[in-house]
Amino acid sequence: MDISNSKSLFSRAQLSIPGGVNSPVRAFKSVGGTPLFIKHAKGAYLYDVDGNKYIDYIASWGPMILGHAYEPVVKAIQEQAVFSTSYGAPTELEIKMAELIRSMAPNVDLIRMVSSGTEACMSAVRVARGYTGRNKIIKFEGCYHGHADSFLVKAGSGVATFNIQTVPGVTAGVSNDTLTCAYNDLEAVERLVSENPNEIAAIIIEAVAGNMGCILPKEGFLKGLRKICDDHNIVLIFDEVMTGFRLALGGVQEKLGIDADLVTYGKVIGAGMPVGAFGGKRHIMEMVSPLGNVYQAGTLSGNPIAMIAGYTLLTILKEQPEILAELDAKTLYLKEGLERVLKASGTPYVINHLGSMISVHFSEHPVTDFASAAAANNNLFKKYFHAMLNRGIYLPPSAFESWFLNNALSYEDLNKTIAATEESLKEIL
Ligand SMILES: *Cc1c(COP(=O)(O)O)cnc(C)c1O
Repeated sequence: MDISNSKSLFSRAQLSIPGGVNSPVRAFKSVGGTPLFIKHAKGAYLYDVDGNKYIDYIASWGPMILGHAYEPVVKAIQEQAVFSTSYGAPTELEIKMAELIRSMAPNVDLIRMVSSGTEACMSAVRVARGYTGRNKIIKFEGCYHGHADSFLVKAGSGVATFNIQTVPGVTAGVSNDTLTCAYNDLEAVERLVSENPNEIAAIIIEAVAGNMGCILPKEGFLKGLRKICDDHNIVLIFDEVMTGFRLALGGVQEKLGIDADLVTYGKVIGAGMPVGAFGGKRHIMEMVSPLGNVYQAGTLSGNPIAMIAGYTLLTILKEQPEILAELDAKTLYLKEGLERVLKASGTPYVINHLGSMISVHFSEHPVTDFASAAAANNNLFKKYFHAMLNRGIYLPPSAFESWFLNNALSYEDLNKTIAATEESLKEIL
């Protein structure tokens, strides 16, 4: 496969952009090799600057749930753009977006739009602190909630991929207010809460984790967190930046039937435009400025182009519930195919999966938290990644990321992916 144009763009990019990329995982640092520079994408396929075509399992890390350049979304953006790209004043579109989300998601009485998942999570934590008058938060090892200071303690995604233990630039004061424990370890949470009486403002969690591969909450874990939060007046924040509008219209709250106090969104909500949101129960969200004194603002928040893109996509997902069902069925089909060829290869493996999130771990043991994800044979994952890429299958370039399926994938694409896995395993084992 010729990637000479990507190679020369990567060299040029490094002269002007740190590491040549605007978000670290894109650099392929953990899997090695040259990141592919993309020229365009359509449906389930990415095309790089050398004209190579790939079946895409990243979907821009989630948002392109119906595939790239999805026509109704493109058309809506084009129609809106001629009316100006931003006003800095309210629009009816923002109300429609808020009403639509409220009609889909449980426990969202009030919702504020922002421009990224990071912003959504850091704002939700600020609201929880303002509401409770407490400083500390609990997060889980391997969960990623964006790059705000408080979250860069034992974080997942790129922080895990690059094995960064402490992030220079995050002060000890901030880090000390972030307490961590292992995902799925309810007793550890109970211990932290009793060791820090009346000090915990919030527990924030990826209720189905996707930033250490895909990791599912054990039976009773989320329910247990809900109870701890109720007993101790702690705000339970579900970070649904990955899972919202993907695992169900109402995200994990709906899929697993657990109520959160605050919820954060990103990714799918903007259909590929920079959008995030945080929302939740009225008595907590009433703290947000200008209603309350917890200040939060954004020049481009609720931007009309971003809103029309997200609104169009979410409306389609709501009106055609069969879409998420089709996507889940495709993911299950892929899982069964991958299992067949992995089993035949004799290599130890674990596939974690829920809805349209899936990850393959070369592990002999169940992968239930960050430690077990990190203990897998991630060197083998690296080889698998490149063997697949050479066969035109674009997987996330790290074992610490979930794969995201999009509904433009055909069963033929899935069969190609399964066949490529079979060939790749023969090559690398
Ligand atoms: C991607 C992600 C974020 C951060 O969102 P950005 O838009 O990249 O700032 C936060 N939480 C989760 C669970 C994510 O997957």
